[in-house]
Amino acid sequence: MSKHPNPVFVYSDRYTFVLPPGYENIHHFDGSKFQRALAVLDERSVSLEGRVIEPVEVTREELELVHDSGYLDSLTSSAVIADILEVGMLAGVPFKELDERALAPMRLATGGTIRAVREAFDAGVAVNLSGGYHHAKRANGEGFCAYSDIAVAIEIARAERGLERVMVVDLDVHQGNGVEAIYQGDVGVEVFDMYNFQIYPMGDPDARGGIRWDHPLPGGTEGPEYVERLSAHLPGAIEEFQPQLIFYNAGTDIFAGDPLGDLQVDEAHVLERDRLVIEAAVSRGVPLAMVPSGGYTDDSHRLLANALELVAGLA
Ligand SMILES: [Zn+2]
Repeated sequence: MSKHPNPVFVYSDRYTFVLPPGYENIHHFDGSKFQRALAVLDERSVSLEGRVIEPVEVTREELELVHDSGYLDSLTSSAVIADILEVGMLAGVPFKELDERALAPMRLATGGTIRAVREAFDAGVAVNLSGGYHHAKRANGEGFCAYSDIAVAIEIARAERGLERVMVVDLDVHQGNGVEAIYQGDVGVEVFDMYNFQIYPMGDPDARGGIRWDHPLPGGTEGPEYVERLSAHLPGAIEEFQPQLIFYNAGTDIFAGDPLGDLQVDEAHVLERDRLVIEAAVSRGVPLAMVPSGGYTDDSHRLLANALELVAGLA
């Protein structure tokens, strides 16, 4: 280990979100998983004291580093937001309420991802407890992702530090089509993506070319096979590219039983995956920023807690 990490965590109670009355349970995503993960750490007597940073909301100017202003303007329409959230019925809810309940927490989490990337350079490893909206593109949102927190944070880091090589390791079960479409043709940001190719976004043709290390997996892939494939390919990709920053999109929707993921990775191997990515970065002295992204079971908060405990233990 060339540099000992001093990990930090970015979190706000305002990350928690609840959809409007009558729609609370319509989406699989547990809007309180961040808070519940911290409660699990308390139960396990894992202390993050002195390591938690409160984020500020991303600004319009920062969002425009990645997103078209016309698209950002369209986010004042309830119909557009309902489409992004994949709950058509929400189109009937007043914009202001949708903005407060769904978009404002996403903007705060985007600010948190920006902060995590900034902190990663000193801390070695920095985790934002929300974020990972890897389906959002420059001019549209989809798949529950309105803002590309990942790309906005990377653009700010490139501007502030003149980074020439950023690697996105996207291990959420879904293909990271938004980030890939944004960085297609940009040799300064390259994506390693391992995902179930048989589910949404089904090998998005506008994005597939944006993957440099492409690892499509069939539905049903189990933990040992998953981790074996990752350990066979990730370290070599890092050696080849020599990134100055690794951005890790750590979706836990690879977990067996996830209603959207359709892989069969058990809890121990989800954690083994995280360990592998973190060690691959830390052992080479590459700063790592990490976000939780997707995860749609009632165990998602515990899987996140496992990862947080692992990171806390690096100190
Ligand atoms: Zn996902």
